[in-house]
Amino acid sequence: MDNQYDLIVIGGGSGGLACSQRAAEYGARALLIESDRLGGTCVNVGCVPKKVMWYAAQLAEARHDSPEYGFESAPASHDWGQLVERREAYITRLNGIYAQNLAKRKVEHASGRGQLLGGGRVRIAAANGERVVSAAHIVIATGSTPSRPTIPGAELGLDSDGFFALTARPQQVTIVGSGYIAVEMAGIFLALGTRVTLVIRQDSVLRHFDAMLGEALLKVLRDSGAEVVTNAIPRALKRDAAGALQLDLEDGRSLPAGDALFWAVGRHGNTAGLGVEAAGLRADAEGHLGVDAWQQTSVPGLYAIGDVTGAAQLTPVAIAAGRRLSDRLFGGMKDRKLDYDNIPTVIFSHPPIGTVGLSEAEARSRFGEAVKIYSAGFTPMYHALTRRKVRAQMKLVTVGAEERVVGVHVIGAGADEMLQGFAVAVKMGARKRDFDDTVAIHPTSAEELVTMR
Ligand code: FAD
Ligand code: NDP
Repeated sequence: MDNQYDLIVIGGGSGGLACSQRAAEYGARALLIESDRLGGTCVNVGCVPKKVMWYAAQLAEARHDSPEYGFESAPASHDWGQLVERREAYITRLNGIYAQNLAKRKVEHASGRGQLLGGGRVRIAAANGERVVSAAHIVIATGSTPSRPTIPGAELGLDSDGFFALTARPQQVTIVGSGYIAVEMAGIFLALGTRVTLVIRQDSVLRHFDAMLGEALLKVLRDSGAEVVTNAIPRALKRDAAGALQLDLEDGRSLPAGDALFWAVGRHGNTAGLGVEAAGLRADAEGHLGVDAWQQTSVPGLYAIGDVTGAAQLTPVAIAAGRRLSDRLFGGMKDRKLDYDNIPTVIFSHPPIGTVGLSEAEARSRFGEAVKIYSAGFTPMYHALTRRKVRAQMKLVTVGAEERVVGVHVIGAGADEMLQGFAVAVKMGARKRDFDDTVAIHPTSAEELVTMR
């Protein structure tokens, strides 16, 4: 049987949309299968709604500071429900734009659940029936989904999807976890007036990044009123006789969990029911699919991109991997692939964090004595007039006599927008003296990065 398509992509999120559209631009007959709303996690329950909530939290902080800048102080009030309505209307507009973009680029869009059948075939199960389609190339871009600990009562908690489903602000919440989502949710809740208990397994947050970042953020979270429970391993979540949520810890402690408890303990790949075994693949315990540097699985003609591979679970990574794969398969660029080194990332905490490259600990374990660190800590000028003071901290990790900059780590207002340009410099192999030779922009926080001694 002739293949009906050149490319079938399962999953219409960041990676799948980018991959299928790039392929169609080269003239490939591309089919995209999506079982839910177009845009995937990022657009519907990830980056986009999160950033809207982050902006709201920024406004709350600015409003709090505004009397010190001469504005009349007004009683703080915030309508969470109205914000959510406006946010979801924006997302619905985006869903429509994604559908239009597919049509414009002549990517066929099938609504339904894709299941691998092996031999280049995929079954699409939709509300109006089933059909089987085939292609020479099949890309798995099914993303990931929130994980929960396997403890009694875990289902009584919510996850990040549940956070976005809230239509009113809870008064008091517990967040379990210490990664991106835990600290981002904590910052939003705190700024908008919810009391937060953060439950972490060890003694700091963001432990996979430079230690300075987690330590600095932990201090800000505590200063902002968060209760941080350290060295806490959840054992069970339950409701007491009065119906109140309670989190039991392995060491015997028991914490009142407030109006809602959120699990923010990582995500696993969406491979359940996908037919990976029928296709000759095997997912790992986290549901992730292994690929080589070319996004190629162990089965010829089958590829995986984005969160489902478990590597750097970020939207621009899924997009870049998808586009490069189509450049290679359909655009004649035989060497095109994604370089996973030096991927910059921002944590939208309050204040935000921007980080790229090696942490100090990683650099020291790799390069030992050849590592030299430059750092700065200061109160940004914005806070000169405010009672609320939030310090900024920055670190450059350099290696060797030439002092090549292998890591840039920033926490502080503006770090989110600051980092992209510095990531270019790191990717190009900039040395400390290239930073020094760059004239500062004044008055900014960013200027500290080019004036460190
Ligand atoms: P997804 O975007 O998840 O898309 C996968 C799609 O596949 C989904 O639409 C799903 O419905 C569909 N699907 C699954 N199985 C099937 C099937 N069998 N058949 C058909 N369709 C199927 N990243 C950033 O870079 N910046 C951020 O600020 C950021 N914030 C985030 C905040 C939160 C709360 C979360 C959860 C994530 C955030 N991320 C952020 C991560 C980002 O959302 C993901 O890395 C990105 O969406 C991954 O893209 P993807 O294409 O791999 O998967
Ligand atoms: P993360 O991987 O960032 O963090 C999860 C952390 O939770 C772990 O590192 C671990 O930290 C802790 N943890 C794991 N299991 C348990 C457990 N059973 N009990 C208590 N704590 C546990 O995952 P997230 O869910 O926060 O986010 C998922 C991914 O989504 C991120 O990795 C990121 O790629 C992406 N994302 C990106 C964002 C952005 O770009 N701004 C924003 C949000 C998500 P420890 O070992 O210290 O206990």
